[in-house]
Amino acid sequence: MPYAYDRDNIFARILRGEISCTRILETEHSLAFRDIRPQAPEHVLVIPKGPYVTFDHFTAAASDAEIADFARAIGRVCAMQGLAPGAAGGGYRLIANAGEAGIQEVQHLHVHVLGGRVLGRMLPYAG
Ligand code: AMP
Repeated sequence: MPYAYDRDNIFARILRGEISCTRILETEHSLAFRDIRPQAPEHVLVIPKGPYVTFDHFTAAASDAEIADFARAIGRVCAMQGLAPGAAGGGYRLIANAGEAGIQEVQHLHVHVLGGRVLGRMLPYAG
Protein backbone atom coordinates (compact mmCIF):
# COMPACT_ATOMS: atom_id res chain seq x y z
CA MET A 1 0.00 0.00 0.00
CA PRO A 2 2.30 2.77 -1.23
CA TYR A 3 0.00 5.64 -0.25
CA ALA A 4 -1.07 4.62 3.27
CA TYR A 5 -1.50 7.91 5.14
CA ASP A 6 -0.58 8.15 8.82
CA ARG A 7 -3.14 10.48 10.41
CA ASP A 8 -0.82 11.12 13.35
CA ASN A 9 2.14 12.44 11.36
CA ILE A 10 3.41 15.78 12.63
CA PHE A 11 1.94 17.87 9.79
CA ALA A 12 -1.49 16.27 10.26
CA ARG A 13 -1.21 17.36 13.90
CA ILE A 14 -0.27 20.90 12.83
CA LEU A 15 -3.32 20.96 10.55
CA ARG A 16 -5.54 19.86 13.46
CA GLY A 17 -4.05 22.62 15.63
CA GLU A 18 -2.49 20.13 18.08
CA ILE A 19 1.03 21.46 17.40
CA SER A 20 1.81 25.11 16.79
CA CYS A 21 3.61 26.50 13.76
CA THR A 22 4.71 29.88 12.45
CA ARG A 23 2.10 30.39 9.79
CA ILE A 24 2.97 32.26 6.59
CA LEU A 25 -0.13 31.66 4.47
CA GLU A 26 -3.37 29.70 4.66
CA THR A 27 -5.68 29.10 1.71
CA GLU A 28 -8.73 26.90 1.25
CA HIS A 29 -6.65 23.78 0.53
CA SER A 30 -3.10 24.63 1.63
CA LEU A 31 -1.02 25.83 4.57
CA ALA A 32 2.48 27.38 4.60
CA PHE A 33 4.63 27.67 7.72
CA ARG A 34 8.27 28.07 8.71
CA ASP A 35 10.47 24.99 8.88
CA ILE A 36 11.49 24.38 12.48
CA ARG A 37 15.11 23.62 11.43
CA PRO A 38 15.77 26.16 8.67
CA GLN A 39 18.43 25.28 6.08
CA ALA A 40 18.48 28.79 4.59
CA PRO A 41 17.51 32.31 5.70
CA GLU A 42 14.08 31.65 4.17
CA HIS A 43 12.77 28.12 4.64
CA VAL A 44 9.03 27.67 4.38
CA LEU A 45 7.06 24.43 4.03
CA VAL A 46 3.89 24.40 1.95
CA ILE A 47 1.49 21.50 2.51
CA PRO A 48 -1.90 20.53 1.13
CA LYS A 49 -4.60 20.17 3.79
CA GLY A 50 -5.70 16.83 2.38
CA PRO A 51 -4.20 13.45 3.41
CA TYR A 52 -1.52 13.03 0.74
CA VAL A 53 1.84 11.39 1.35
CA THR A 54 3.89 12.35 -1.70
CA PHE A 55 3.71 14.53 -4.79
CA ASP A 56 2.81 11.57 -7.02
CA HIS A 57 0.06 10.55 -4.57
CA PHE A 58 -1.27 14.11 -4.53
CA THR A 59 -1.36 14.56 -8.29
CA ALA A 60 -3.03 11.15 -8.73
CA ALA A 61 -5.68 11.57 -6.02
CA ALA A 62 -6.32 15.27 -5.33
CA SER A 63 -8.94 17.37 -7.09
CA ASP A 64 -7.99 19.96 -9.70
CA ALA A 65 -9.04 22.65 -7.19
CA GLU A 66 -6.61 21.30 -4.56
CA ILE A 67 -3.78 21.02 -7.08
CA ALA A 68 -4.32 24.55 -8.40
CA ASP A 69 -4.61 25.94 -4.87
CA PHE A 70 -1.38 24.20 -3.80
CA ALA A 71 0.61 25.36 -6.83
CA ARG A 72 -0.62 28.92 -6.36
CA ALA A 73 0.12 28.85 -2.64
CA ILE A 74 3.75 27.88 -3.39
CA GLY A 75 4.04 30.71 -5.90
CA ARG A 76 2.51 33.18 -3.46
CA VAL A 77 4.94 32.16 -0.72
CA CYS A 78 7.89 32.76 -3.07
CA ALA A 79 6.57 36.23 -3.88
CA MET A 80 5.56 37.07 -0.28
CA GLN A 81 8.99 36.12 1.07
CA GLY A 82 10.69 38.33 -1.53
CA LEU A 83 12.30 35.41 -3.33
CA ALA A 84 11.10 36.01 -6.90
CA PRO A 85 14.20 36.47 -9.07
CA GLY A 86 14.71 40.08 -10.03
CA ALA A 87 17.26 42.82 -10.61
CA ALA A 88 18.44 42.55 -7.00
CA GLY A 89 19.20 38.85 -7.25
CA GLY A 90 16.74 36.69 -5.41
CA GLY A 91 15.70 33.25 -6.52
CA TYR A 92 14.68 30.14 -4.68
CA ARG A 93 14.65 26.35 -4.74
CA LEU A 94 11.64 24.07 -4.35
CA ILE A 95 12.20 20.58 -2.97
CA ALA A 96 9.70 17.78 -2.37
CA ASN A 97 11.36 14.74 -0.82
CA ALA A 98 9.52 11.44 -1.23
CA GLY A 99 10.05 7.97 0.13
CA GLU A 100 13.26 6.23 1.09
CA ALA A 101 15.46 7.46 -1.74
CA GLY A 102 14.22 11.01 -1.21
CA ILE A 103 14.79 10.67 2.56
CA GLN A 104 11.29 11.90 3.42
CA GLU A 105 11.10 12.49 7.16
CA VAL A 106 7.46 13.58 7.49
CA GLN A 107 4.92 11.42 5.66
CA HIS A 108 2.64 14.25 4.52
CA LEU A 109 3.41 15.97 1.21
CA HIS A 110 5.36 19.18 1.69
CA VAL A 111 7.29 21.42 -0.64
CA HIS A 112 10.31 23.16 0.87
CA VAL A 113 10.70 26.77 -0.34
CA LEU A 114 14.31 27.76 0.24
CA GLY A 115 16.05 31.05 -0.45
CA GLY A 116 17.70 34.13 0.97
CA ARG A 117 21.21 33.04 -0.01
CA VAL A 118 22.97 31.42 -2.94
CA LEU A 119 21.99 27.80 -2.43
CA GLY A 120 24.84 26.06 -4.20
CA ARG A 121 24.65 23.36 -6.85
CA MET A 122 21.72 21.01 -6.60
CA LEU A 123 23.24 17.70 -5.44
CA PRO A 124 26.67 16.18 -5.02
CA TYR A 125 26.93 13.08 -7.22
CA ALA A 126 29.98 10.91 -7.52
CA GLY A 127 28.54 8.89 -10.44
P1 AMP B 1 11.54 16.06 4.79
O1 AMP B 1 12.89 15.47 5.09
O2 AMP B 1 11.45 16.57 3.38
O3 AMP B 1 10.42 15.12 5.15
O4 AMP B 1 11.42 17.35 5.68
C1 AMP B 1 10.67 17.46 6.84
C2 AMP B 1 10.90 18.84 7.37
O5 AMP B 1 9.95 19.10 8.36
C3 AMP B 1 12.28 19.07 7.98
O6 AMP B 1 12.94 20.12 7.28
C4 AMP B 1 11.97 19.45 9.42
O7 AMP B 1 12.82 20.43 9.94
C5 AMP B 1 10.54 19.94 9.31
N1 AMP B 1 9.74 19.83 10.53
C6 AMP B 1 9.60 18.76 11.34
N2 AMP B 1 8.76 19.04 12.34
C7 AMP B 1 8.36 20.32 12.18
C8 AMP B 1 7.49 21.18 12.89
N3 AMP B 1 6.86 20.78 14.01
N4 AMP B 1 7.31 22.43 12.42
C9 AMP B 1 7.95 22.84 11.31
N5 AMP B 1 8.78 22.07 10.58
C10 AMP B 1 8.99 20.82 11.00
